[in-house]
Amino acid sequence: MCGVFGIHAPGRDVARLAYFALYALQHRGQESAGIAVTDGSRITAVRDLGLVSQVFDESTLETLRGDMAIGHARYSTTGSSQWQNAQPVVRHREGRTLALGHNGNLTNTTELREQLEAKGIRFESTSDTEVIAALICEHPGTLVEGVQEAISRISGAFAAVVMDEERLIGFRDPDGIRPLVLGDLDGHPVLASESCALDLVGARVVRDVEPGEIVVLHPDGVESIRPADPHHPALCVFEFIYFARPDSRIDGQHLHGVRERMGERLAEEAPAEADIVIPVPDSGAPAAQGFARRSGIPYVDGLIKNRYVGRTFIQPEQAMRESGIRLKFNPMPDVLAGRRVVVVDDSIVRGTTTRKIVEMLRGAGATEVHLRISSPPIISPCFYGIDMATKNEMIAAAKSLEEIRVELDADSLAYLSLEGLEASTGHGDDRFCRACLTGRYPTPVPVAADKDRFEATQLPVA
Ligand code: SF4
Repeated sequence: MCGVFGIHAPGRDVARLAYFALYALQHRGQESAGIAVTDGSRITAVRDLGLVSQVFDESTLETLRGDMAIGHARYSTTGSSQWQNAQPVVRHREGRTLALGHNGNLTNTTELREQLEAKGIRFESTSDTEVIAALICEHPGTLVEGVQEAISRISGAFAAVVMDEERLIGFRDPDGIRPLVLGDLDGHPVLASESCALDLVGARVVRDVEPGEIVVLHPDGVESIRPADPHHPALCVFEFIYFARPDSRIDGQHLHGVRERMGERLAEEAPAEADIVIPVPDSGAPAAQGFARRSGIPYVDGLIKNRYVGRTFIQPEQAMRESGIRLKFNPMPDVLAGRRVVVVDDSIVRGTTTRKIVEMLRGAGATEVHLRISSPPIISPCFYGIDMATKNEMIAAAKSLEEIRVELDADSLAYLSLEGLEASTGHGDDRFCRACLTGRYPTPVPVAADKDRFEATQLPVA
């Protein structure tokens, strides 16, 4: 899960617009941020580890002048948290330069990288993004032809923006696993991972980029190249459950409303005898509101979140997750003491965070803790850009509902059903990737692979 942005707008401060767009997309990745611009003759890029606000300041933005810009906020799946893996990736070949930012995860990185290395092509990073950039850069034709060639060879999930000195292009994988939305800023085309970034820069949403579509951004519009053989769409259903911001719209659906419907449905499927409904903030809030409305149990805030600590789920190391939870939430005894509490969260992966939350609620005086989860159990790994860990680490992969309840020390536990999830999204089930919930993947994935297989063990020595 990363955030990408692209804009072609002569006369506008495109780097500053990219900066603000990345602010809106910060929730999609907090490990590194970068912006590349071109003035038509050369590409200038700034990228570094850290939040958007840490990487850029006024003087950095002043150095980024041009008509076109792409931006990227990174969260690592393939490729570790090193500076070399920050994006946009910049590659040079025979007087040509390109910059590329990618959201997603390839499932054939290792083969492609070996093929390219056998031809003498060198890599500076361990990320799959550099493989896509190399495929495009090595193509002797135009940027569009290079992108078409790359799409024909890469597998997995990718929503990307790429530019050379003349063109800016966005493209989305044939299954449409990761989102990409097209906007319009005073007649200039804009691309972003989510509509909330368009809102922030003052652009209006035009439409989602279609699965497999290539869009070429011109100063005053876009040219669309659609695939001859469109695949069945398989948008990541977790964009609806958790990843995307609740104020974003994907596939015509406002995500806050979708998540409220998930909570309402959960209250119908798994009612609880309780005094209050509380969310795990912030991501559990819309579903908790829906649960409270449908059940008639009052909604209150029982956990206060320190908003300056990153989302525990998307930090890559287990040790960081363990310490992150203690920094992140503080329970309110005045609200919780002597109460039977329904606590609503959007998902459980390892159970580490949930177990600590139950412990905190009991410690604050809750007499009963009823866990309600607004997604079905996660039982299979994600190969498409979400660091969901290995199957062995997933609490629901091999345990029964009762075993999970006992392990989490909850008085009751219920998940939203798959049918309830589908009904809440407003779309049929066949529009989504739900592989982590069902074990059925929309594309071929390497058997017994996990994310470490995609990583080179060592960076090449310069
Ligand atoms: S496996 Fe799960 S998290 Fe990964 S893309 Fe599919 S639905 Fe999304």
